[in-house]
Amino acid sequence: MKAERTDEDAVRLEALRQYQILDTEPEEAYDSLAQLAAYICGTPMALINFIDEHRQWFKAKVGLDVLEMPWNVGLCYLCQERRDIVVVTDTLADEKLAKNPVVIAEPYVRFYAGVPLITAKGDMLGTLCVLDRVPRELSQKQMEALLALSRQVLNQLELRRNLAKVSRFAEELEQTETSLRQSERRSQLFAEITVKIRETLQIEDILRTTVTEVQKLLQADRVLIFQLWADGSGTVVQEAVLPGWPVILGKNLFDSCFKEEYLERYRQGRVSAIEDIESAYIRPCHREFLQQFAIRANLVVPILVREGIWGLLLAHQCATPRRWNSFETELLQQLANQIGIAISQAQLLAKQTCYSQELARSNSELEQFAYVASHDLQEPLRMVTSYLQLLEQRYKSKLDANADQFIAYAVDGAHRMQTLINDLLNYSRVSTRGQPFVPVDCSAVLKQAIANLQVAIEESGAVITHDLLPEVIADATQLTQVFQNLISNAIKFRQNLPPKIHIGVLKGGVDADKESLNIIPSEDEWLFWVRDNGIGIESQYVERIFVIFQRLHGRAKYLGTGIGLAICKKIIERHGGIIWVESEPGQGSIFYFTIPDKTGKQS
Ligand code: ADP
Repeated sequence: MKAERTDEDAVRLEALRQYQILDTEPEEAYDSLAQLAAYICGTPMALINFIDEHRQWFKAKVGLDVLEMPWNVGLCYLCQERRDIVVVTDTLADEKLAKNPVVIAEPYVRFYAGVPLITAKGDMLGTLCVLDRVPRELSQKQMEALLALSRQVLNQLELRRNLAKVSRFAEELEQTETSLRQSERRSQLFAEITVKIRETLQIEDILRTTVTEVQKLLQADRVLIFQLWADGSGTVVQEAVLPGWPVILGKNLFDSCFKEEYLERYRQGRVSAIEDIESAYIRPCHREFLQQFAIRANLVVPILVREGIWGLLLAHQCATPRRWNSFETELLQQLANQIGIAISQAQLLAKQTCYSQELARSNSELEQFAYVASHDLQEPLRMVTSYLQLLEQRYKSKLDANADQFIAYAVDGAHRMQTLINDLLNYSRVSTRGQPFVPVDCSAVLKQAIANLQVAIEESGAVITHDLLPEVIADATQLTQVFQNLISNAIKFRQNLPPKIHIGVLKGGVDADKESLNIIPSEDEWLFWVRDNGIGIESQYVERIFVIFQRLHGRAKYLGTGIGLAICKKIIERHGGIIWVESEPGQGSIFYFTIPDKTGKQS
């Protein structure tokens, strides 16, 4: 009897394990083969056994009711030694065999015929054997049949192994499919959240979508966003939690352990994944803190905003421990990055809005100030002007030449101040004293502007032409002022030749492609322009001239206060349009402005 294990055994055992047959349930195919063996050989007992380190384990048995036997008890070792069919016609005839425990006791084997089950690779896994309590012989045909049955047993084993492979493959395909589905869902979730971030910077919306979708995707018991405060405490600002678990939304929480131990690490982008807080290596106080909320496993990623830590995105498992896989960790990390970007954009937007509001407020205050100041200045200035005029009338030529000149300067100064105050008042009145928008015939408006400029037009010999002008919805007085300011500038900034001024108009969309314009008006607006053949403007000044008090020439050359174009800009913007200039120095300028076409529409 063989008593020692060899290397060969190790290889054999490994092969046996690959078939995964040991300790499996009985199977009809093996049972039938054993029955067939007993029937063919005419024996009351038949076995199919597999031999591992310690035992022979019976996969199929006929006439015997044992599950397994020690490896070194029984006669199958004969097959192992011979690696061929073994037929013992009478065990008692052999001195050694006669002492075998299965011969001297149950099942009292007198006849044994066994075939080793040897794989194609040459590993012996077990035997197919038939037994009898009386001596017996086997015919050649019976032996052949036994050998044929043993090959069927091996076929069954191969079949089983192939089936196992197929099912493993199917399983793998299913894990692959799941991960494909997951990554598809993840991309979808990103897309949704990115769109949300683009569409709205409503942080609350973004955070709510994140927790709801992540909870669904990860099938976590709870997903939450925790905003951290400077003192180390924090508030749960969003939460998606399954019914039955504690709700912690809105709670202000302070974990003393958390502050000391984790904050700095999270600040550096650390991710924490705890599979089971009951056995995790964490401080007891932190464990207690987590247990209050029935947390069994958690995954925590920081939300960083401009390198500082804004808060945390957390997923909790309450019912059971949970091993977080890399898909889940990466998902949370990438979402936290998106959230960080959204928060930083929202903060910038809030700052910008605040700044714009502040600007609007200070603008309106300034306007108010300009209005009050210029209004209140008018009265004393009127007095100064009239007394100066009185002085001029009474004492002109009665004092010395210097005095006459001083008085003339003073009168001129007072006049200029009057003009400046009037212009300033006009400027501040654009928004404070604007009239409601009504249908306005632009030809009538232009006619009025030209009438107001009659003297200057005649003096300069200006020729003014215009397109057929439309009706627009506007403040007629203000629109008159725009035309008047632009035409008066076209006359004022003329060259040494009579000004030629043309007022053109076209409707966006319909006529736009007729003209070679740099800016194409949209369908629902009118584009007007005032073209002159004046001195033109250098390109670097085309924006500056619309700023109040900005002039390109000294007063000695061209009179003015530098307010006219600022008024035009304010009026056009009040109407919802824009104004700009295109110019060629020495050739002339074209001032363009748009007015939305609201005729026929409710505004
Ligand atoms: P003002 O006419 O009182 O100087 P505006 O605000 O009307 O003030 O114009 C600002 C500046 O823009 C003018 O001083 C002038 O330098 C320039 N400008 C305006 N209109 C024209 C024009 N048609 N041709 C050339 N330069 C112009």
